[in-house]
Order: sequence, then C-alpha cells, then structure tokens
Amino acid sequence: MFFFDPSYVLLIPALLFAMYAQQKVSSTFRRYLKEFASSNLTGAQVARSILDAHNLAEVPVDLVKGNLTDHYDPRSRVLRLSQTVYQSSSLAAIGVAAHEAGHALQHAHNYAPLGIRNNLFPVANFGSQLAFPLFFIGFFFQTDLFMLIGIWFFIAALAFQIVTLPVEFNASNRALRLLTDGGFVTRSELPKAKAVLNAAALTYVAAAAMAASQVLRLLVLRNARRS
Ligand SMILES: [Zn+2]
Repeated sequence: MFFFDPSYVLLIPALLFAMYAQQKVSSTFRRYLKEFASSNLTGAQVARSILDAHNLAEVPVDLVKGNLTDHYDPRSRVLRLSQTVYQSSSLAAIGVAAHEAGHALQHAHNYAPLGIRNNLFPVANFGSQLAFPLFFIGFFFQTDLFMLIGIWFFIAALAFQIVTLPVEFNASNRALRLLTDGGFVTRSELPKAKAVLNAAALTYVAAAAMAASQVLRLLVLRNARRS
C-alpha cells in the first residue's frame, strides 16, 4: 500500500537499490547456472550429502515450485529446492543448495539469531499489515497515538529485516565452508559460488534499507502532521 506525497522521495534510494539487487541476483544466478562444478553432483545431492554428514538424515530435501523459491522450513524441518537448483550441478545451484543446508545446520545448532528471527516473524508479519492502515487513520484524523502505533509496528518489521541479515550471512559463510570441506567445489570454483550467494545477500540488505526508509518517512509525515 503506497501513499503518494512529497515524503515519498525518501524511499527512492532504497527502491533503486532494491531494483539493482534484484537485477544483480538474477544476472549472477543465470551466469553461474551455465558453469558446472567438476564434482558433478546436483543441488539436491549436495544438500542431501551435507545433511547426512551432519546427522540430519531425517531432514528431507523436497522439490518446490517456482524460481528462486529455495528455502529451509524450520517448522516442518524440510529443505525445499526449486527445480532449477534441485536438478542442476551448476555452481549457482549447488551454492544455493549449500546455503539452504546452512539454515538447517543453524536450526540444529540453535543458532541464536535464527531463533530471534523466527520469534519476530509473526509480530513483524502481523505488524507490517497493520502499520500502514493504522498510521494513515492517525494521519487523516490527526490522532497521534494511531500514528505512533503504526510506526512501532513498522519498527517491528524493520527489526525482523535486520535480524535476517546475520542469519543470511552466516548461512552463506557456512555454505562456502561446507562446499569446500565436502569437496563439492574446487578452489577455482569457490569464488563463483560465492558470487551467487553475495548477490542473494544484497537483496536482504535492500529489504532492510527499504524498511528503514519507510520508518524514516513515517516519522517525517508524523512530524509534519503534528506541527
Ligand atoms: Zn537464506
């Protein structure tokens, strides 16, 4: 839900950054989808092998519809890979597969930021749906309390985006180590898998920047409305 007013310009840098990150992730992914790891294992095989080697044989590796929809589901303890990643032995595919396995290892080892992130999710999800309506009810009726509650809900959404960053960076670092230690990539292949994971990380930074800009914008709007 967008509301056009002069404060909208505050969102432009983050919007441009988000567009850049999106473009970067798809171009890098496409590029390294055409370069294959000499280990010749698919994303699904790499994920399976990492999970088995870390006593996570009970975590299944399933197929999921869509493009770049790969994720680890901590509630059902299932690793889901998109078809492209699942069946390809490209450096892009095994990079993503190892990253998702990294999330499964975080979960198994009770990595603290992951726990915080999972606990924040319902609040942030609920909050981000209510933040705009509450804020604008407060804005139009000049009720400061409603504007403030809206802003606080948005801060919860921002906190979620921020705690997502260490979770994602850590999963990627784990992935690169797992790929090297498991012999899934050679020394010269590693930087290519890393490029894919770095590009993906940018999109999370962009999401956090976007949430921060939204909070800033609402604070500016509230100030203008109060004076
Ligand atoms: Zn991730």
